[in-house]
Amino acid sequence: MSAVTDRQLNSDAAWNPERRIISREPGEQDSRHDLQRSAPAPRVRCFVDVEFSRYLPRIERVDYVHNLEDDFDVIVAGTPAARTFAQLWSRCSNPAAPMIAFTDALRPRADVVLYNTNAADLATALTSVQDIARRVSCLPAIPVGLDRNGLLALALSYTRDCPIEARWQPNSPTVLEYPLLFGIDNARSVLEEMAEAGLLRRRFAERVHVCPSCQSSRLQAREVCVRCKSTFLSEEPLVHHYACAWQGTQSKFETGGGLVCPKCHKQLRHYGVDYDKPGVAITCMACGDTVAEPEVGFTCVDCNTYASAEHTNSLDWCHYDLLPDGVAILHAGQLPHAEVVERSTGGCSLRDFRLVVGRALPVARRHNRPLTAWRARIDIEDLRRQVGPRGAHQISQFVHELVLQRLREGDLVATLSDGVVVCLPETDRATAEQLAEQVTRHIKKTVRPQPTISIALTERDRIPALLEELR
Ligand SMILES: [Zn+2]
Ligand SMILES: [Zn+2]
Ligand SMILES: [Zn+2]
Repeated sequence: MSAVTDRQLNSDAAWNPERRIISREPGEQDSRHDLQRSAPAPRVRCFVDVEFSRYLPRIERVDYVHNLEDDFDVIVAGTPAARTFAQLWSRCSNPAAPMIAFTDALRPRADVVLYNTNAADLATALTSVQDIARRVSCLPAIPVGLDRNGLLALALSYTRDCPIEARWQPNSPTVLEYPLLFGIDNARSVLEEMAEAGLLRRRFAERVHVCPSCQSSRLQAREVCVRCKSTFLSEEPLVHHYACAWQGTQSKFETGGGLVCPKCHKQLRHYGVDYDKPGVAITCMACGDTVAEPEVGFTCVDCNTYASAEHTNSLDWCHYDLLPDGVAILHAGQLPHAEVVERSTGGCSLRDFRLVVGRALPVARRHNRPLTAWRARIDIEDLRRQVGPRGAHQISQFVHELVLQRLREGDLVATLSDGVVVCLPETDRATAEQLAEQVTRHIKKTVRPQPTISIALTERDRIPALLEELR
């Protein structure tokens, strides 16, 4: 019998829980376990590490495969080595497949966790993941390459019907991770990219501080001496002598014969009559300095750098919920992409624009290449007054077409309600200005009535703010 394919698994005949009856007498330890009473039954292929497969029982109609590129329906995982999974996710034929693991460390990416390797438990586990296997098999295969991690994140959320949530992870320098995306490199940026493209909705999770030197968030909050940064601080009451108005820490007043003012040398006898205690002062036991308030800062546990709170950046982490557009993309099997955009004739949607520019930005920054955007605003109200709403709409569409005509290959343009936004890779400000001027001149010459157009240029490092504005 041939191995079960995605399509077969998707059919009703496959993996029917009602027909999959596990019968075992108490104490019975059979090595070949009958999964199903009635025939024909499809085979199920489990991807498992060669080493680990030695511990697994043989089960009827279950095949173990060891080659990443081979077809499989379920992943069986022994150990939680993130590096192994990174390789698995990047290359295997079915990265969203349900996972049965033998360690809690893999939850919730593992759909089932088993504590021993007997045939009955494994068979039960295989039965319990069949719904997920079916949902996965309904989706197009996730291609290897640039889109893979993004599509995989969407697919995991969709097939498990759960949001992608951030959780504390003290063993990681980021201190937060997405356990569902276990082993996916740089999961936060993958998710941000998907959110940026309108495929996931952000839900605020946590704000953490980030070491300015090594980007770790494993920071120890501390109160330190403003002068020498020591944490060896002690709090002391302040004493205020009414008679001479002198104020100082209590230890400066203490003598063998009670409290004596260090300024006027008079004895302080009665609290409330001679003196009072208006508060406390912080004394640094390392340098002797006295301050009213210690400085608050962070020491990085990973690189030992100290930075005051005001010089430490914070980073927001979100949970992510799958949006309908994300589900649609999953069924299409491809992310909105630069190539798709270039192939299309009418520019791109605002969502694609944000996604493509969001991808181009870090590359341009890393290689210090210019990248300029401009936004052309049409005075729609003015047009409406002149030609009515329908005419105004037609004119703004016409403007969009004219902009497209004038742009070069690789330039991006998206329509806005009041104009267009353009991104010009490998283009500095001067060239972008020239181009904008040409386009405006062209529009003014061609379009009647002449629309009022204002153009604002944005250079590379200000583009994130522009993308934010376009949200
Ligand atoms: Zn650090
Ligand atoms: Zn005094
Ligand atoms: Zn000090």
